[in-house]
Amino acid sequence: MFGWTGVFLRVDLTRNEAVAESYDAGMALNFIGGRGFAAKILWDELELGIDALSPENKLIFAAGPLTGFGLPNSGKLVVASKSPLTGSYGDGNIGTSAAVQMRKAGYDAVIIEGKAETPVVLHVKNDVAEFIDAQDFWGLNSFEAEAQLKLLYERTAGVVSIGPAGENLVRFATVVSQEGRAGGRPGMGAVMGSKNLKAIVFEGDNEIPAAYPEDMKELSAAGYREILTKPNFSFWKRQGTVSTVEWSQENSALPTCNFREGVFENADKIGGFAMEKIKVGNRGCPQCNMTCGNVVKDSGRGETELDYENIVMLGSNIGLGNLKQVAALNRVADELGLDTISLGNVLGFAMEASEKRRVPERIHWGKFKETKALINDIAYRRGFGDVLAEGVQTAAAKVGRGAEDWAMHVKGLEVSAYDCHAAPAMALSYATSSIGAHHKDAWVIHWEVQFGRESYSEEKINKVIEMQRLRGGVFESLTVCRFPYAELGFELEWYTKYLHAATGRKMPFNTLIYDADKILNLIRAFWIREYASNWTRDMDFPPVRWFKDPLTEGPLKGSMLDALKYNVMLKKYYRKRGWDERGIPKKSTLKKLGLSDEANELEQYVQLSE
Ligand code: SF4
Repeated sequence: MFGWTGVFLRVDLTRNEAVAESYDAGMALNFIGGRGFAAKILWDELELGIDALSPENKLIFAAGPLTGFGLPNSGKLVVASKSPLTGSYGDGNIGTSAAVQMRKAGYDAVIIEGKAETPVVLHVKNDVAEFIDAQDFWGLNSFEAEAQLKLLYERTAGVVSIGPAGENLVRFATVVSQEGRAGGRPGMGAVMGSKNLKAIVFEGDNEIPAAYPEDMKELSAAGYREILTKPNFSFWKRQGTVSTVEWSQENSALPTCNFREGVFENADKIGGFAMEKIKVGNRGCPQCNMTCGNVVKDSGRGETELDYENIVMLGSNIGLGNLKQVAALNRVADELGLDTISLGNVLGFAMEASEKRRVPERIHWGKFKETKALINDIAYRRGFGDVLAEGVQTAAAKVGRGAEDWAMHVKGLEVSAYDCHAAPAMALSYATSSIGAHHKDAWVIHWEVQFGRESYSEEKINKVIEMQRLRGGVFESLTVCRFPYAELGFELEWYTKYLHAATGRKMPFNTLIYDADKILNLIRAFWIREYASNWTRDMDFPPVRWFKDPLTEGPLKGSMLDALKYNVMLKKYYRKRGWDERGIPKKSTLKKLGLSDEANELEQYVQLSE
């Protein structure tokens, strides 16, 4: 095969074994890579109903057929597992040189199984894998762990690690790389911690097989040049995603005080132009000239990378309007290996619970020191922090007395940084995302504001599905960044050209979209198989707050979602997806997508409609 290495590395931590396994072209062509590979492996190999934090769970690191060739925005991998936060499929992508080095070492994916007896670091160099005693690394934060490992290995080594949050099994712990590039929101870091795996170091110096290597080089150079010509390029380099703070404020979509409001009185203090005043540089994923990590000096000991999501969730959503302090919280979260989105969400919940006197702890909106202390308590599972470490859904159940109504999550995954009181399409996107309330797959709110906020129309459903297929299916499986397309208008044809040069195959976009649909339906089947008789279409509803508590401030004061209209919208969404009225893929839909075996298996757990 060209493009793909055709090899997975299967690592059994219980037995200290690592075996290279060839896989066939069918896997590559049907599931592409990244999310597609992870979903297929987890579907085929995971036993039903296992505890996500047990040795029976598997942790997958998977790249795509374009990773490692030096193409623009392609230095990413997907980390996936059964999630300890949602109880079903979970994943995230990380921009990291570990992706490049894993492919150069000869692997498209690494499958981690079992549990080491004591903490280990896995070192993979080409065809040699070794298990290093990591007792001296355990307890280090993720920045320290990577820095120390970099002293032991080549500077070019790619490292992914966990911080104390992953070690302490915080259910929204992430896997971290390169001081703040983190992924795996639904607790992939906790799964890694449950396996006593502190870090993986990848080093590779093999040539990745390309069908047309010269074309590859030319296309790569041309792609970088093309990105430089895009009109929005220079502003993107100045602010990256942070300019969205001002946009969200103008459009009442800026989560404020646990998503109670969509406007924040200090938005100008945490927005793109405020950020530019303290910015000292840009950082980014490998093989990218758009480098969107805005490096700023924080209020404490160092520097951190800011983007829209972490500013909003650790800023307006907890009532904090001091950007240097937001930056300091962000750095602490990255060091500890906590997902900044879920963290800001549970902190907002805790502050509201305190304000409403539902918990004895006093945690006030916008108080930096209190918040920082609570973040540490979450990572080390101390006191109330231990409750919050379980995620907002479980914390709300524990607090009780209606707290579930203002716990902002879908299927257990905390909502990310867009308020949807007046954004039905974005609410649908959150509610039907493959991993719970995450914005990455169908980020439609910008389009929706231009289209018209009020409607629950067919166009909106179509847009959500289109973006889920493209961003959640194609980009996540190719493991390429969505921003060139989404933010600069980088044309999709580039990817088919890249794929041809890499694999030697003509893979038109409609084939990729078909594969994307297959992957998204397989993930849906995974959810249904796990939940079986407990599955209900209520799981595809956004949080209750957006239906019950109208906005009380800003130009959209009084706005909230309409439950009846949303219900109709969801029904239509199911129909367009080929799912039945319960939201379960029909047998005919799965068959049409080449998932007949999966349909037969799913039928053992739930009755499928024809
Ligand atoms: S644009 Fe940002 S997220 Fe995308 S590859 Fe570049 S640095 Fe990474």
